[in-house]
Amino acid sequence: MESFFSTPLSSLEDFITEHGFTKVHAQTIYTQIYKHGAKSFEEISGLPQKLYSLLEKKYCFDFLEIAKIQESVDDKTVKLLFKLSDGRTVETVCVPFQKKYTLCLSSQVGCAMKCSFCFTGTQGLTRSLEKKEIILQYIQAYAYIKEKFEGHQAAPNIVFMGQGEPLHNIDNVADAIEILKTTEGMGLGPRQITLSTAGYLPGIKRFSELGSVNFALSFHSPFNEERNELIPLNKAYPIADLIKELKSIKLMKRQFLTFEYLIIRDLNHTRKHVEEIGRLLKDMPVIFNLIPFNEFPGAPYKRPEMAAVEEFKAGLMELGFHAMIRTTKGDDILAACGQLTSQETLS
Ligand code: SAH
Repeated sequence: MESFFSTPLSSLEDFITEHGFTKVHAQTIYTQIYKHGAKSFEEISGLPQKLYSLLEKKYCFDFLEIAKIQESVDDKTVKLLFKLSDGRTVETVCVPFQKKYTLCLSSQVGCAMKCSFCFTGTQGLTRSLEKKEIILQYIQAYAYIKEKFEGHQAAPNIVFMGQGEPLHNIDNVADAIEILKTTEGMGLGPRQITLSTAGYLPGIKRFSELGSVNFALSFHSPFNEERNELIPLNKAYPIADLIKELKSIKLMKRQFLTFEYLIIRDLNHTRKHVEEIGRLLKDMPVIFNLIPFNEFPGAPYKRPEMAAVEEFKAGLMELGFHAMIRTTKGDDILAACGQLTSQETLS
């Protein structure tokens, strides 16, 4: 049996037309399942009787097990721990903004990048997620939010900022995005989706395959030596090479490249950093997202004073860059950036 959630609309249409039915049924099924939350073919009315049994023999609805749900008492951030069919687990974080949640999806179990400031990196990479595992995080987290919080019915935005390096699993991430964008189904717009990378250059070179989704780079330092310490991947793909490649990304009108900038106490937010950023990124359409370091058990760095973050922000803005400070959400349930693990006991 194939997973329904691995099946693009075109394959479903092929299957249905090969059996002598019209492809409009495939569109109905996609709409009912993705837009209206049907959980089986049975829940979809109006299909030809014979088609039900054909579909049920061919496709299964292999939802993930939700092993744990935590809700922040501070700000209504929700963290879901999903158990995958091989027993591994990943976390998905649902972050509330005024009217809409944003879902922070994981792309891998663990991560190979070993960034020195990231809790997920301490685990190493176990495996990449399949496309259906990425899609199901979205479907199941959305269903949960919709049911739990009145007024949060709109399809959430996606940020690939959970566990893993999404460009290190680009084929499955691209396939999952394609399915979630399907108009007859979830119908997400490309601008509702943001992909964040530690700077995996082979993936950045293929970024256009993802179809004008928003791009975010975890920058964290304009100096190679320092960035090597923070993000070991920088040794293979240094800053100049990244910037050269970023300049070739085609942006739509008023679309920016997001540079996330982790701010670590007494480390990467001096005047020299601001000046070097100004030199390196001159005239690039960059918007800075400043993230005060979130501490986790055993973390080697400290959270900065807010005044220092404000000062850094002001320095960037003087240079003409847009900059904002990412408010920390879900800190009390270890759901903030860089605090995700796959270990049930820690969460
Ligand atoms: N691998 C991707 C996406 C996952 S991390 C990437 O590196 O971009 C999502 C964001 O959280 C990144 O910008 C990352 O640098 C940041 N982050 C990681 N650990 C953090 C921590 N302890 N505190 C604050 N932000 C952190």
